[in-house]
Amino acid sequence: MRKINNNLSDKIRDEIINFIEPDIYYCYQCGRCTAGCPLANVYEYQPNQIIRLVQANEINSIFDSNSIYLCLSCEICSSRCPQGIDIAAIMSYLRIKSWENRSFKEKLIAEFYKAFLKIIGIFGRSYEPGLILNLNLVSGKFFNDMDLALNILRKRKIKLFPEFVKDRKKLSRVVKKYL
Ligand code: SF4
Ligand code: SF4
Repeated sequence: MRKINNNLSDKIRDEIINFIEPDIYYCYQCGRCTAGCPLANVYEYQPNQIIRLVQANEINSIFDSNSIYLCLSCEICSSRCPQGIDIAAIMSYLRIKSWENRSFKEKLIAEFYKAFLKIIGIFGRSYEPGLILNLNLVSGKFFNDMDLALNILRKRKIKLFPEFVKDRKKLSRVVKKYL
């Protein structure tokens, strides 16, 4: 993982303090956010620990763990916090910063984001078969989850052919900035 320097770490911590209400120092480590998180058992750092790491300015430790990349943005943690801290927004913000600084620890997750953005840039909306093919090519596991994909297709949960949105050129220009 590409480490960020102390100045950038300070900047990210300060931005979280300044722009996300209320102050993260209101967290008193009750653990309610973690108790409700569906992924807490697979995270290397649990949501309450992420908050503690931000307070301690240990941003590199967060970037080097799997938590922010696996987060589903389901917002259960935020809804359970007695102090009203928006943990889900903090997780998303940290993920964006990691992306901007090319600090993504998990190569395949980075590839997933790239493939997803590319598909949005091309079609203007998600196209699952394209996403699966793209990821399988990148990972070298060409037939990974194919049985699952065929089952989903058979049940018409996803469409075989992509749909295009109107005026997707504008969207494509936005997407290019992040690739
Ligand atoms: S629920 Fe809120 S106060 Fe409790 S540990 Fe999580 S962030 Fe801190
Ligand atoms: S938003 Fe992320 S951290 Fe919060 S409960 Fe959902 S998966 Fe867990």
